[in-house]
Amino acid sequence: MERQNCFKLYNEEERSQLEQLAADYRKFLTDCKTERESVREVVRQAEAAGYRNMEDLMQNGGEQLQPGAKLYTVCMGKAVALFRLGEQPLSAGLNILGAHVDSPRLDIKQNPLFEAGELAFLDTHYYGGIKKYQWVTLPLALHGVVVKKDGQTVDIVIGEDADDPVFCVTDLLIHLAQEQLEKKGARVVEGEALNLLVGNAALADIDAADKSDEQKKAAKQAVKANILRLLEEKYGLQEEDFISAELEVVPAGAARESGLDRSMILAYGQDDSACAYPSLRAMLEVENSQRCACCLLVDKEEIGSVGATGMQSRFFENAVAELLNLTGEFSELNLRRLLQRSRMLSSDVSSAYDPAYASAFEKNNVAYLSHGLVFNKFTGARGKSGSNDANAEYLGWLRQVMDAAGVHYQTAELGKVDLGGGGTIAYILALYGMEVIDSGVPVLSMHAPWEVTSKADIYEAYKGYKAFLMA
Ligand code: MN
Ligand code: MN
Repeated sequence: MERQNCFKLYNEEERSQLEQLAADYRKFLTDCKTERESVREVVRQAEAAGYRNMEDLMQNGGEQLQPGAKLYTVCMGKAVALFRLGEQPLSAGLNILGAHVDSPRLDIKQNPLFEAGELAFLDTHYYGGIKKYQWVTLPLALHGVVVKKDGQTVDIVIGEDADDPVFCVTDLLIHLAQEQLEKKGARVVEGEALNLLVGNAALADIDAADKSDEQKKAAKQAVKANILRLLEEKYGLQEEDFISAELEVVPAGAARESGLDRSMILAYGQDDSACAYPSLRAMLEVENSQRCACCLLVDKEEIGSVGATGMQSRFFENAVAELLNLTGEFSELNLRRLLQRSRMLSSDVSSAYDPAYASAFEKNNVAYLSHGLVFNKFTGARGKSGSNDANAEYLGWLRQVMDAAGVHYQTAELGKVDLGGGGTIAYILALYGMEVIDSGVPVLSMHAPWEVTSKADIYEAYKGYKAFLMA
């Protein structure tokens, strides 16, 4: 059961492949901080690799798809499914890699802009599980879309270019924090206190005699008025446009190499880009597979896989029905067979052992950084509750596949029994009666603004995912 630090085992060629993959992964992390940005980049790379939009084929119809045909379909710009047809009919089942492209963050509210103490703020509602105290006094960026009443979409990214301004949430100075520091960790910073500081300059004063009612009102809230003026000037936006906006506050700045040995990556959003990116790479490199390969990247995992773009939506089922139709195989029975005979790796991050918090983990059943791809037979909490518990038969088969491909892997649970727990999208696909297991990359400081992974684990995940898709 001993597992080794993978860096010990690599030859020069593997080491150079690993570094190349890590560099590409860092670029993806830097460019893709939201589900929309991730899906856009996945489509760009897929099209460059010869993938075609299923929608186009559905409209044209009549084309005989051959093994090796590459198709993708997007759901509302936030989820995407890629398919590469194998030699066998679709009803033989798919090999599916599923990961998520949403990450914990702060979302801007629908009526967010206010002024207090001559400071302008955007009010937020956090998304996913965060330790709120981690999100203060960091440089933050604003990513997302504003959809105007006429349907025009304005893309927003502020805080990523070196000459962009950044934002922050303030914190109380230590000198006056005696009472604050006596609070429980969950309440040290309250959710409602997570307001993004966006301005302090008052709009230039206008002579009182000349003021219209509107201007007098603006003069009282001169800092907010100035922000509104800027939004209008730079983006053509009115305050009401926040109603139809999705603006996400994320840590500003690029993904970085970490450690004197540069063995690790420190970046925002590695839950779950650490699995989504290796999944994409594996998918784009599949050749000559017997079964149809599928890479599924979904939204809303961090808030329970809800909504039209989350895994609980029928998006995936509808997509495979369309796929069956395109290959001339569609029947209700073939759809059910396809789903039931599929196999899935639910690719999501696992907790990495952290010696600073050793008591949270059970040393023999936790993932270690640089010990390779993780398989979690089950997740859940309090007696595996809410978990997909993978079958021993499936694990037996996977061991064979991984060993044949020289993939270094480990098995793990999140932490000690009864300390807490978590879930993934695994149980949702398992509802179809297919074989599903959780597998992914170990992460230190999971759900923190900056998370740590090992380049070796990203590399092993990529190798393992590719072997799985082609098995
Ligand atoms: Mn996750
Ligand atoms: Mn998560």
